[in-house]
Amino acid sequence: MLGSLLRRSPRPDSGRTPDVPVNWGRLFSYMRPYLKWMAVAFVMILGTSALSLVFPLIIQQVIDAVLVENSGDLLNNITALLIGTFLLRAVLSAIDTYIINYIGEKIVYDLRVDLYNHMQSLSLSFFSKRRVGELVSRLTSDVTTLRNVLTTNVNLFVQQILIVIGSLVLMVLINWRLTLFIAVVTPIMAGLGVALGVILRRASTQIQDELAAANVVANETIQSIREVKSFVREDYERARYDGAVRRALDIALKVLRVRAVLGSAVTFVGFGSVGAILWFGGREALEGRLSGGELVAFLVYALSIAGSLGAILSLYTSLQQALGASKRVFEIMDTAPSITDAPDAQIVTRADGRITLAGVHFSYDVRQEVLDDITLDIAPGEIIALVGPSGAGKSTIFNLIPRFYDPTAGAVLLDGVDLRAITQYSLREQIAIVPQETLLFGGSVYDNIVYGKLDAPRDAVIEAARNANAHDFIMGLPDGYDTIVGERGIRLSGGQRQRVAIARALLKDPRILLLDEATSSLDSEAEHEVQEALGRLMQGRTTVIIAHRLSTVRIAHRIVVMQEGRIADVGSHDELIARGGLYARLHALQFRIEDALADMPDDPDA
Ligand code: ATP
Repeated sequence: MLGSLLRRSPRPDSGRTPDVPVNWGRLFSYMRPYLKWMAVAFVMILGTSALSLVFPLIIQQVIDAVLVENSGDLLNNITALLIGTFLLRAVLSAIDTYIINYIGEKIVYDLRVDLYNHMQSLSLSFFSKRRVGELVSRLTSDVTTLRNVLTTNVNLFVQQILIVIGSLVLMVLINWRLTLFIAVVTPIMAGLGVALGVILRRASTQIQDELAAANVVANETIQSIREVKSFVREDYERARYDGAVRRALDIALKVLRVRAVLGSAVTFVGFGSVGAILWFGGREALEGRLSGGELVAFLVYALSIAGSLGAILSLYTSLQQALGASKRVFEIMDTAPSITDAPDAQIVTRADGRITLAGVHFSYDVRQEVLDDITLDIAPGEIIALVGPSGAGKSTIFNLIPRFYDPTAGAVLLDGVDLRAITQYSLREQIAIVPQETLLFGGSVYDNIVYGKLDAPRDAVIEAARNANAHDFIMGLPDGYDTIVGERGIRLSGGQRQRVAIARALLKDPRILLLDEATSSLDSEAEHEVQEALGRLMQGRTTVIIAHRLSTVRIAHRIVVMQEGRIADVGSHDELIARGGLYARLHALQFRIEDALADMPDDPDA
């Protein structure tokens, strides 16, 4: 049982790789701005530790002077001194606690901002490989763990060291023979306590890991509750969560058994040591080398040394945890964005909107080529519909145009300039993307539209909403434009969310539009509203559409048919149908039903 708790096999997903060295200088560099405050805290710790050490001496005085001399006055004086000491210690400790936690909060802030800023600078490829819950936990729990080690733990460590050294010095001054005796007994006591502490802490980390894994399950499920319910997978998810939480329970129960057995052993050894000190000290007292008060003071010092040693070693284990946390934090900070601006990258102010893909090859990972020699020239203002079977590489072309990824070979150009020679900011300012499923931010409808151009006046926002056929439904919402939409826009219908996304894109007024058409069909009225809004949005802009609807392919100037990462054919709807290739087959499968539906009357009774 013990062995299994001590042997920790790193979970592949936990991100714990304890063998990698930690850069202490870097960790402590977060303390650097607050060194002055740390120094003040240190003075306070010196004071509180010294006052803690005075306490046993006062007890000694009470026993030796007051009780032996039977003096009430002396008792009053000593009590007053004792209370005064405690009061001063309380004041110093309050100041110390405040300063340490003040520094802690500042460090948490600095670390979070640094980490979050860095995350924002990372490229899309980084996020596509990570889970949201894991990244967020780095911003929350890992950062908090780091704060604790840098502040509270450092503070405690200094305090305990001071108490150990001070107690030892005072003990030697009182009676060196007894000190020597204790020097043998105490480490045994402390050692056992520490062993227990190490095991418990290690196990509690295991419990935390298992709980974190369970949290990931809960997170995913709750976020995708719609999928869970639509597939009626509640029982499956219950079992998955139950399994994850049960693993945490198993470890917790194991820990409980160890705690029960080892905890009692530690208590027994502790009391046994007190007995041994009393025995040896009693003999010293009998031989006149030690007073009663000194014997009691001794015992208190010995106990506080044991306590401090235990605390120091348990601090060591929490340090180990912090190392894990710091590695996870710095691992992200050390990840360089895969897409960066060239030093001499040019700023595009207003592009014409010609997009050229010249011999583009691309793969997300080396094993599979996703785009294979794509060459396509899209004129300014042209509407291009991309069609093709699932997995053909249509979305990947969408990823290359705003330079979310770079091609592995060949080049993507804007107005004849390689995207790698343009700043990402100015490039993306030229482009608006209307995705298949619009996720709205958790603010108001207004906030969601103005996101397209943060400095736009209110009139412009409303104008954009009007052109997106969104104004009327927005005015019908409880607070109009100031209505708060759910975290994922849950209160708006699919068609309404799309129109908000269109308004946002209209406000941005880009030269290039990337439109991933929704596959889900809306009712014919909503469909009409969305299509009309899209028509206005496309006006005069270079538009690339991943098309799912017949009506869309019909308005496109050219249709690009993709298959397995290649361009299989290019032409107008009629040309492609006449050629009878892949497009004709796709059309037969995908659009014929739509055609038939369009010919049917809306009202079945009509
Ligand atoms: P669909 O119509 O289903 O959206 P698509 O034509 O848009 O398909 P892409 O999404 O471009 O196809 O995908 C092309 C290929 O690239 C697929 O085989 C897919 O598995 C792979 N792929 C897409 N995104 C990634 C990614 N982030 N990492 C690794 N592979 C990816």
